Amino acid sequence: MPECPVGRFAPTPSGRLHLGNMLCAMLAYLSVRSRGGRFLLRIEDVDAPRCPRSLAQQCIDDLRWLGFTWDGEVLYQSERTEIYHAALDRLTAAGHTYPCFCTRAQLMSLAAPNQGDTQVIYQRTCARLTPEEAAEKAKLRPPAIRLRVPAEEVSFVDGLFGAQTENLARDCGDFILRRSDGLYGYQLAVVVDDALQGVTEVVRGRDILTATPRQLYLQRLLGYASPGYVHIPLLVDAQGRRLAKRDRDLDLTALARRFSPEEILGMLAFSAGLIPEVRPVTLEQLIPEFAWANCRREDLRLPSLEP
Ligand code: GLU
Repeated sequence: MPECPVGRFAPTPSGRLHLGNMLCAMLAYLSVRSRGGRFLLRIEDVDAPRCPRSLAQQCIDDLRWLGFTWDGEVLYQSERTEIYHAALDRLTAAGHTYPCFCTRAQLMSLAAPNQGDTQVIYQRTCARLTPEEAAEKAKLRPPAIRLRVPAEEVSFVDGLFGAQTENLARDCGDFILRRSDGLYGYQLAVVVDDALQGVTEVVRGRDILTATPRQLYLQRLLGYASPGYVHIPLLVDAQGRRLAKRDRDLDLTALARRFSPEEILGMLAFSAGLIPEVRPVTLEQLIPEFAWANCRREDLRLPSLEP
């Protein structure tokens, strides 16, 4: 285990913080703070048009309201294009990328990281273009840039879900590093930032678990150390239904009108299995007792929010 664990919370501010985000922030925070580690906040607004600064600021204010503290400055992905560009150049110079002119590429690249499961495997149409053909096509429209992945198994041990394996070519396919509109994809940005920020532990939703082998492979190509990964179970409502982002009463706009920060943290801590009954708690109160061994692996059921 590293001497000083470094964790992070990396929200995409395309809407107000949701209970699922808050749970993720809470567990990421408790995991490192309980071991005297550092906690970083990174705003994943690489898709800047979808993530206005006002929403990022709202997210920061909400985290403060809940009692989170973080080390150092907040990092904004939208300000780091040059850094992602340099990483892409390295991959291209080493022959790992190719331009892709398929229009479907744009559609696929718009998929959120949590759509990894349903993503279509790219059939490598553009990997077969000659340099001359690619140059001709580039006159008509700018290409997306894809990473060529090998038919290789990538494995890791998840902190909660145990051993995981994915065959890159079969299960995910050549994925997009930069979209045809010039915006960098989630996979490249997250790998570069986790490495350059010295992150040793990534805690995030189970819906992104399938992105991890891709990120491990990118880390290897770029010569970065890999952090440990803990993917957390899905949060479901008191009836066992999956929470949806469109469910407005579960974001902070509605919740903050009805509950104090301590009440919200108490509901989340109870759902995760950290406290035996629903009661108001602060993050500081949860730190001394925190252990992943106490966290549930099955879907995390919220208490009823009915008054
Ligand atoms: N920005 C992603 C999200 O909000 C999280 C990515 C990650 O933690 O690696 O879903």
